Amino acid sequence: MQKINVQLDSSKAQGTDAPNLVVILGTGGTIAGTAESASDNVGYRAAQLGVDQLLAAIPALSPYQLEAEQLAQLDSKDMDFPTWQKLALRVQAHLARPEVAGLVITHGTDTLEETAYFLQRVLAPRKPVVLTAAMRPATALQKDGPQNLLDAVRVALDSEARGVLLAFAGQVHGAEQVRKVHSYKVDAFASVDGNRLAWIEEGHVRWLSQARLMSEPMGTELLASLDCEAWPKVDIIMNHVGATGSIVRALLVQGVDGLVVAGTGNGSLSTELESALREAQAKGVAVLRSTRCDAGPVTSSADALPSAGTLSPVKARVELLLNLLQQKLAIQVGRKQ
Ligand code: ASP
Repeated sequence: MQKINVQLDSSKAQGTDAPNLVVILGTGGTIAGTAESASDNVGYRAAQLGVDQLLAAIPALSPYQLEAEQLAQLDSKDMDFPTWQKLALRVQAHLARPEVAGLVITHGTDTLEETAYFLQRVLAPRKPVVLTAAMRPATALQKDGPQNLLDAVRVALDSEARGVLLAFAGQVHGAEQVRKVHSYKVDAFASVDGNRLAWIEEGHVRWLSQARLMSEPMGTELLASLDCEAWPKVDIIMNHVGATGSIVRALLVQGVDGLVVAGTGNGSLSTELESALREAQAKGVAVLRSTRCDAGPVTSSADALPSAGTLSPVKARVELLLNLLQQKLAIQVGRKQ
């Protein structure tokens, strides 16, 4: 793992006992992407520049004490379990350092909300872990990455910030509620079914709401207990006009541990899809019912398949994955006793 010390005039940030070091973990994404032409906002390659290059391009970061580490270099459409495992362990190790005030993670926008939710559930950190990203590459005429990265550092140093957050387009969102809601606009994220937590105004973080769901951390022992290849296989399927049970049955043949279904409306399912899911459940597959709607919960009822509550299908998948990992771990521990 490449580790880079970026000490951009740290002297200005000293003289206080409060932790003031921000660790920046680079994972790639469009924020580190480059295009051949400055006018090209879509025909670029993500994950080309190192995190040290991203930081060096922002003179306004010079008053801050920063340490940078290139943890991965990928387009987040290819985010994977080994990178998640490494990321959670590195974040945990840095958070344990008394001099660290918080962390910033540069990430692609495509799967950012999944990584954010994963880190929140595993670590539930008391210090801030601030993800940030960009919709335009680093070569764009009007790039959004540098401002987002600068804002993320400021959020990481804010005394009221805690937990896994996203600093993006002048707003701060929580891991539980944030979703990518636009494929192209620079302002691409929103807090669904809740408020954004803060906005960032000329470097000042203005908190709007501190009502956060602070779950208990699941802990990283969970992640280290099994090789990533042995992590549970959880897939997402969707209800739609004419949905049958054929995909569920094909997955049962292949082998699957959990299924999240993105139902219609309040988690409704076609009769055929529902009966295939009940067959899967009877064979020991864990099933969670979410909605393909952009917002809103799926209400629970005793005679329906289990509800994912307010979780989107992708976050319900992370939740189910972690729950199944916990069950596997409990079985392993039980066998050893
Ligand atoms: N495909 C890119 C990624 O997720 C998109 C982005 O970063 O905006 O890495």
